Amino acid sequence: MINRRQWLYGIGLIGAGMKIALPSTDSPHPKPNPTPLELSQYEPKSMLQVHESHIERSKFPVIDFHTHISFAAKSERGVALSPDRHYLGTPQELLAVMDRKNIRTMINLTGGYEKGLADAVSKYDRAYPGRFLTLTEPSYSRLKEPNYPKLQAEAIEQAHRDGARGLKILKTLGLYLRENITSGTLVKIDDPRFDPMWDACGQLNMPVAIHVSDPIAFFTPTDRFNERYEELNNHPDWSFYGGDFPSNAELLAARNRVMARHPKTQFVTLHFGNFSENLQNVAENLDRYPNMWVDMAARIGELGRQPFTSRKFFDKYRDRILFGTDATPHGEEFPQQVFNDQLYEIYYRFLETEDEYFDYAPARIPPQGRWRIYGINLPDTVLRKVYYDNAARLLRV
Ligand SMILES: [Zn+2]
Repeated sequence: MINRRQWLYGIGLIGAGMKIALPSTDSPHPKPNPTPLELSQYEPKSMLQVHESHIERSKFPVIDFHTHISFAAKSERGVALSPDRHYLGTPQELLAVMDRKNIRTMINLTGGYEKGLADAVSKYDRAYPGRFLTLTEPSYSRLKEPNYPKLQAEAIEQAHRDGARGLKILKTLGLYLRENITSGTLVKIDDPRFDPMWDACGQLNMPVAIHVSDPIAFFTPTDRFNERYEELNNHPDWSFYGGDFPSNAELLAARNRVMARHPKTQFVTLHFGNFSENLQNVAENLDRYPNMWVDMAARIGELGRQPFTSRKFFDKYRDRILFGTDATPHGEEFPQQVFNDQLYEIYYRFLETEDEYFDYAPARIPPQGRWRIYGINLPDTVLRKVYYDNAARLLRV
């Protein structure tokens, strides 16, 4: 190894009495002495100067397929145990944002069951026709009853009569629901006890909106290599690493067996097939299962960091992608899904522009990982389908 002085000598800058000034150790610029910075305090501002679009309203009317206007009043260890609903926003406050943002219809996925469902339908769907649609959910608290498969299928028929437009499955199935509801071994997604329920949905033209698994990083240790370290550190209960949790691959495989077994039932695999980190995998499944759809809720952070792959994907699967946000009124704690004007403007910017390197959530720090996204500038023909036509066809509105 040669030092700097030897190197300069070697190329002839020092020699034969010639002198040059080398930086002295007591230079007026103090030696950098970096102080450690708390990761949570780090908020770098991008110095990039590129075009910024502001999309107030979507180019075409929107059906937001994935929102949460109500939720179960009582749940334990991730399992809803009561038909009663809590409501997160009044129709009036939701309609004000919807009208400003060109949202024709909001789909409330978590409508519950029995009297809770009927109540949600009358408060929203029936009071404001065309603006809100509600989905039902299984009542897992009856799982132990010997005739549960038949009871649950009948509950779907009753929910249909009460106005439910589909069935929502939370990640409860596969990750929380256990043999004794909140204890015992985990119940598998393809447990045959649910077969009559899936069939009933197919017969009644009620699509199943199914959330299976979670971001792949949630299945790896919460350590310095985890790209969602801050998110998992803030929400340790979101980690499915260790314990008796199945792997992401096992969960998706069980979901795939359900879609294969019930070809007449339409399945919207939420959050971009729950594998937006691997669009190749999502594409293969869409090719394999003609009854599979995807929504994009809470995944523009993933889609927007792979804009070239995403754009090709939207082009190829333009008939099977639904616009969705996971919007939750007053959900400030999770900025990637808070129901407000800003959230919708970000989605529209992603779909409609070629803007570069912008935030995927209205938040001080990117909440799902420290990166920014790029717009995919979809053509009008694809935009219309994703914003409205696909969901309208699926929900028969
Ligand atoms: Zn959701």
